[in-house]
Amino acid sequence: MKLKTISIFAALFIVAPNFFATKGMWLPNLIKALNYSDMQSKGLMISAEEIYSVNNSSMKDAVAHFNGGCTSEVVSNKGLLFTNHHCGYSQIANHSTVEKNYLRDGFWAKNFGEELANESLYVDFIVRIEDVTSKMLGGSKAEGESEDDFVKRKTAEITKELINGTDYMVKIKPFNYGNKYFAFVIERFTDIRLVGAPPSAIGKFGFDTDNWVWPRHTGDFSVFRIYSNKDNKPADYSSENIPYTPKHYFPISLKGVKEGDFSMVYGFPGRTQQFLTSYAVDQKMNKTNPARIDMREKSLEVINSTMKQSEELRIRYASYQSGVSNAWKKWKGENFGLEKENALAKKIEKERIYTERINENEELKKQFGLLLPSLKTLYKENESYQKAFDYYIEMIYSGPKSLRYINNFVSVIENAEKYRLAGSLYAEMEKLKKNYQDFIDYPAQLEFEKRMWKSLYSTAMNHVGKEFHPDNLLAQSNYLTNMDKIIDDMFEKSMFLSDKKLLNYLNNPTEKNLKKIKKDKGYTMVKSFYDALRGKVIPTYYSNEDKITELMKEYSKSIQIVFPTEKYWYDANSTLRVSFGQIEGSAPRDGMRYTHKTTAEGIMAKYIPNNDEFDVPEKLISLINNKDYGRYSEGDSILVICFTGSNHTTGGNSGSPVINANGELIGINFDRSWESTMSDVMFSEKLCRNITVDIRYVLFVIDKYAGASHLIEEMKLVETPKFTIKKDKIVGGIELPIQNSGVLKSLEKQMSK
Ligand code: ASP
Repeated sequence: MKLKTISIFAALFIVAPNFFATKGMWLPNLIKALNYSDMQSKGLMISAEEIYSVNNSSMKDAVAHFNGGCTSEVVSNKGLLFTNHHCGYSQIANHSTVEKNYLRDGFWAKNFGEELANESLYVDFIVRIEDVTSKMLGGSKAEGESEDDFVKRKTAEITKELINGTDYMVKIKPFNYGNKYFAFVIERFTDIRLVGAPPSAIGKFGFDTDNWVWPRHTGDFSVFRIYSNKDNKPADYSSENIPYTPKHYFPISLKGVKEGDFSMVYGFPGRTQQFLTSYAVDQKMNKTNPARIDMREKSLEVINSTMKQSEELRIRYASYQSGVSNAWKKWKGENFGLEKENALAKKIEKERIYTERINENEELKKQFGLLLPSLKTLYKENESYQKAFDYYIEMIYSGPKSLRYINNFVSVIENAEKYRLAGSLYAEMEKLKKNYQDFIDYPAQLEFEKRMWKSLYSTAMNHVGKEFHPDNLLAQSNYLTNMDKIIDDMFEKSMFLSDKKLLNYLNNPTEKNLKKIKKDKGYTMVKSFYDALRGKVIPTYYSNEDKITELMKEYSKSIQIVFPTEKYWYDANSTLRVSFGQIEGSAPRDGMRYTHKTTAEGIMAKYIPNNDEFDVPEKLISLINNKDYGRYSEGDSILVICFTGSNHTTGGNSGSPVINANGELIGINFDRSWESTMSDVMFSEKLCRNITVDIRYVLFVIDKYAGASHLIEEMKLVETPKFTIKKDKIVGGIELPIQNSGVLKSLEKQMSK
């Protein structure tokens, strides 16, 4: 496409603002060029360099990707880190036992020595971000070099250049389906210790019922600390390590928020899909989401009833349950929002206008005219593969744990001869023995496993086309109606699931013994399942997906040409982003208006003694009844718990700092309202709100509830000014007129010193 054509073409259209692109999650290195004036007009008072700078310390140096999934933020010069309770959940669960039940009772280290190390937990800081598009897309392939090898070679070359002798890591990611590439230079810390966590009755208050729901009263936070070596550099766990001194840490505002205040969220959002076609939205709403919801409902029936049986089982499955139910409820909300906002009809209308415009211009028609029809055909062709993929993936993610456990054996045993030749077979067997021991030493779970298999496997088989079914089932007549018997038989006969014979074979992995393992009922069941997925579903599914991505690369590019006056952002892909908006409530349904904040009164209104989800710890009840909120109260007697804002967020933004116009921490992002979860596909100004736990509630829990005031002492708190300024006059306790905000800012700065 020649530039000249584009500009003439652009001039021909009067495009409604935000026809395709809505809201956004912006790369921080582009904020200065793309968003800064908009952010300022909405109230931001700090400079773009204070948000992102390569040469000086800036906010980005206090925002860390937490274990590759969530976000966390540094809040003291001793590497103290906040994230969500649900982000630190598996670490808290791992340290919990029936005797020391940190999940139930909370945990607070009294000093550095009591802070708990966590195996394989890490946090990543972004050192800098670079546009490497021309390097990635430029150049040409060497003779005989495949596309994949070409990309790998490029990636390795750029990575080497960017690392340049440092200890940093580099991640290069495609944006907009490969139209752009950015490289992220990363500093990874691997000694991250648990410092504190409230009891689940605070950190997860409301549990599944309240998850993804507003009004919310959850103290969803946990506290960790980054440790480094003596040179302040990343190092694996060592008792010699010391608390990390960060380049920047967030000052914490005790001033609270009010409706209309500027707010921004800085974090690592996982995935959005703003350019999805109507065919994809239809697929998602009407096929994929219902299939996955169905499988998770079946899974949750088994998990929830098992967890009720004993405290031991509750701890054992807590983390699994959280993961399964979190996505289940999200998909339900997503469908609700997409239906309510007529997302499908809107996409169809957009595509109609897009097509009309393309057809008006010969050159565009030639270049892009076949994109939508080809996408439509591909989605149709992929339908049965997609269905099989959805059910099989759910079988893996929310199904019996023994599926994955036995599969670990399959991949080693099928390659046993290779390991034997390499001399590592015994070492592999040792790993499997550990796997086996972890599993079999816990017989209480066998009943759980059996129920999972029965319920989920027959659901999957009843929906997935027969052509994708595993061979071991196809070999049996009437297997669909005999599923329970087949599973019972497997549990009775498989040495993976019932006795200790397997240990002898693993200790002595002769060819004969390995053959016996291969005949095991559990082994053949699991192997057949994975063979069906890998052999019958994935090759075509992935090849269709690749074709869709190729077409989407062109389609997303074409949208920006056809609707040229809009401001575009790159879909979230677990890279560092800033989104901004304001503190505001919402009106999600006819006749319903949500306020922007909740208070401690709401905790007491939801309180149900001894209830799994809504019990409240005694000490918290007493603090609330006495309105003993200390410096964390709003006015004399209100404790704000959570608030909502119109910041575009998604999964991965959990734990993100929510920041006010002065760059101070006002809360920790942890969720969206149910009606908002559609924002991964389409952001609705009316519906979409992120949910934040007010930082004053976090500090109140640490200080007044847990008595961990030594942690508060590490932080830099910014108190409410005792007076404000009006028309150049200092007036006690009067609200600030906007036009004097600059003056107030400097005054507040002085006061907070
Ligand atoms: N609750 C989400 C998470 O777990 C955050 C969100 O999707 O808004 O990451």
